Amino acid sequence: HHVLRPTMQLRPIPALSDNYIWLLCDAQGQALVVDPGEAEPVRRAIERHDLALTHILLTHHHHDHVGGSAELAQQFGARIVAPADERIAPVHHRVRDGDVLTLEKPKCQFSVLEVPGHTLSHVAYFGAGMLFCGDTLFSLGCGRLFEGTPAQMLASLDRLSVLPASTKVCCGHEYTVDTARFALTVDPDNPALRERAQQARQLRASGPPTLPATLAQERDTNPFLRVDRDGIKAWGKKAGVKADRLQLFAALRQAKDEFRA
Ligand code: ZN
Ligand code: FE
Repeated sequence: HHVLRPTMQLRPIPALSDNYIWLLCDAQGQALVVDPGEAEPVRRAIERHDLALTHILLTHHHHDHVGGSAELAQQFGARIVAPADERIAPVHHRVRDGDVLTLEKPKCQFSVLEVPGHTLSHVAYFGAGMLFCGDTLFSLGCGRLFEGTPAQMLASLDRLSVLPASTKVCCGHEYTVDTARFALTVDPDNPALRERAQQARQLRASGPPTLPATLAQERDTNPFLRVDRDGIKAWGKKAGVKADRLQLFAALRQAKDEFRA
């Protein structure tokens, strides 16, 4: 593993039907992956690019995010990092809110943020200008509330949305074309959203991922980050929702659950 590569490289590996496994590797080919829902596509990338897989970061316990982790850890000797939740095993290092994860290979550092909502023990990893947010924040959307309350999810999204504008948002799924359809129904007059929706459709028609997006882009376009903005407030008014931002968020999340394109 002594092939020199120019810099840190980040790429999404498509997996299962619409998951992304994020691969980050340094100039020496030391690599980590985030949320390997299956082992095989990671194995192929590791072998094709002659990488050494040192760490596996997990955001939450759902099978489409952890399914390949034990196998990869065993085959490559990688350490599994995950939130404190007995539903995730095996794990070598448990993390919780406020922890700083310092890795030597690849050389990088991540802050751990607990972001309950999609699940109760969901965490996000923020560092090196990247945010690995699993199924909490999607481009133009957010995760379903399987375990948490709207208040928890809104608080989680509020924490993520104040990270630096240039942050690369690395989500767990390629949902952008789908989330755009709903977003356009609630914020139809947002020009940045219309542009992003069109860009996403064009990208997917020819194949490349729509991710990572930047946090600045999400703040301008993602309705779930815009409950304090006029466009979403106007939607709430029409839908008969009280002006309160939490009720507006809850109504938005429910409308998305019921939305059929
Ligand atoms: Zn999930
Ligand atoms: Fe998922």
